[in-house]
Amino acid sequence: MRVRSSILLALLLILYPISAYPGAQRTARFAPGEILVKFKKGLSKEHAERIHRSRGFKVAGRLKRVPIERIKIPDGWSVEEAVSFYRADPDVEYAEPNYIRRAFRTPNDPRFEDLWGLHNTGQTGGAVDADIDAPEAWDMQRDCSSVVIAVLDTGADLDHEDLKENIWKNTGEDWANGSPGNNGVDNDGNGKIDDYYGWDFVPGENGDNDPSDDNAPDYHGTHVAGIIAARGNNSVGITGVCWSTSIMILKILDSGGVGTVAEEIAAIGYAIDKGAKIINLSLGGAGYSTGEYGAIKMAGDAGILFVTAAGNEGTDNDESPLYPPSYDLDNIISVTATDHSDELPSWANFGLASVDVAAPGVDIYSTRAGDSYQYISGSSMAAPYVAGLAALTWAYHGELTYDQVKGIIFNGVDPNSSLEGNILSGGRVNAQRSLLNSTLAAPAYLYATAISANQIDLSWNDISYGESGFEIERRQGPAGSYTTIATINANTETFSDTGLQEPFVYYYRARAFKDGIESQYSREAHAPTAPSNLTAKWVYPSQIDLSWQDNSSHEDGFKIERKTDSSGTYSDVATVDSDVTSYSDTGLSEGLLYLYRVRTYHSGGISLYSNEASSTTYFAGGDNNHGCFIDTAVYSSQNHP
Ligand code: CA
Ligand code: CA
Ligand code: CA
Repeated sequence: MRVRSSILLALLLILYPISAYPGAQRTARFAPGEILVKFKKGLSKEHAERIHRSRGFKVAGRLKRVPIERIKIPDGWSVEEAVSFYRADPDVEYAEPNYIRRAFRTPNDPRFEDLWGLHNTGQTGGAVDADIDAPEAWDMQRDCSSVVIAVLDTGADLDHEDLKENIWKNTGEDWANGSPGNNGVDNDGNGKIDDYYGWDFVPGENGDNDPSDDNAPDYHGTHVAGIIAARGNNSVGITGVCWSTSIMILKILDSGGVGTVAEEIAAIGYAIDKGAKIINLSLGGAGYSTGEYGAIKMAGDAGILFVTAAGNEGTDNDESPLYPPSYDLDNIISVTATDHSDELPSWANFGLASVDVAAPGVDIYSTRAGDSYQYISGSSMAAPYVAGLAALTWAYHGELTYDQVKGIIFNGVDPNSSLEGNILSGGRVNAQRSLLNSTLAAPAYLYATAISANQIDLSWNDISYGESGFEIERRQGPAGSYTTIATINANTETFSDTGLQEPFVYYYRARAFKDGIESQYSREAHAPTAPSNLTAKWVYPSQIDLSWQDNSSHEDGFKIERKTDSSGTYSDVATVDSDVTSYSDTGLSEGLLYLYRVRTYHSGGISLYSNEASSTTYFAGGDNNHGCFIDTAVYSSQNHP
């Protein structure tokens, strides 16, 4: 069975990282054949010795200042099994693998100092560590060459001194003598003649096999490409998130940086055919395109993750959707920008439902056509950080799905107050945390839904593989202590907590576990307190005004539901912001009963419903000439219940 073998593989890889595994160059997380154990205070040496001997363990050394024993494991035991054995003993304070630490990896590229987004030491006046922790992540993985990343943009300078080694090459064409032959033959039969380095999809003057970047003076695509894939540690220029990789350059925007979805859809088809795993789209616009949606969905069916830029209008994408980032497709990750102090800049788009994560995007130094470099700002610069991180994650763990990669990136963010309540994850991506979590990934998107006064249902995305199960922990109020309330089966994504009591607010977190190892915790989730005292009053024949009491301290807003028949089904009519306690429902029919209920929500949960309130719109009567003759003074002056 496939699942079983992947569990086995995962364990083998952790224990024997040297073993060849295609597409994944792993680094051992802990030393093989030994663990560290600390016994509880006051336990006699003889007693401890008896525990060791009972299973053939040997003490290889004792640390003095901190009384920890380094235990050699006998043959036939894994590190995980040994840790489990000691943890089960009530006399053991803790037992853990002997985790490996290494000096962080800094590349020799001369302008590495300028890349605050990768490693922020405050060199540009920002906050120390407001970065994606790239050197720490590079300690685990820096080669992404097993992952093809398609960059759909204005093209790229294919000959740039710091890009050329990381440009994807189409091995299906004829590379006689190691360089393009331009033999005028479509050797791979994909309908594109001599497409050695991708394709230029822009019609007119271009539309050929040269996807070079002609977008002077920005050279947008070249800049984006460098953030993902400038060659690392080559003593030249800068480094990308990936030191070595393979970026497929597909030019879909013209010299002015403009293109249409027709070129984009054609390029997506090319990327699917040529085996891309990730597509970076640092572009967008208004207008829902069914064709664009369908192409991205089709790429999802082929396992491709889309990394999209959330836009630079300073607006809420939940209210003013921007495409492609706002399509409701689970293979899209939408990225907004942060500056060198981890703040959301005023021009960066946000959206609690439709923007997933943030990444560095202000004054980003990257490649420019003609072996040069420059600073540019934009969510276009933030997306490629995440595309690079997705590639690192995939290179580290070849067997992941795009769902898992997305969840691992989402889970790994560093939350901060500038992003919480503005975007779904509430944080800026962190490459080290993502790679660490990917070994046994924490449950993603933990969410608490209040079902009744006594019941809260939890849901999450299981993005770990090979876990033995999940532990659910709960505390009463934000200052309470967490205790484990349930241990549940692997591959589970829901849990119902019953037997709760009013008026407490319960907080939850969850983690995955397998023999002796636990994942990081999920984010904390709780169901906020429901609104109360909902009232509904008609004010015009076509309008009912609602008001309610806000009983929650940090909600993201309220969801309003409506139905027109007391036996009917409620549906959503509106969402309003936090601390808003009224809503005018307009455009209603005359002479009809409307019923309402309201819930409080935030990114980690949703409350019970308020009381139900209803009102009947006044029937203006007459000739069905709605609106024109209405004397507003008459209606608004009536104190209708
Ligand atoms: Ca050819
Ligand atoms: Ca071809
Ligand atoms: Ca370089």
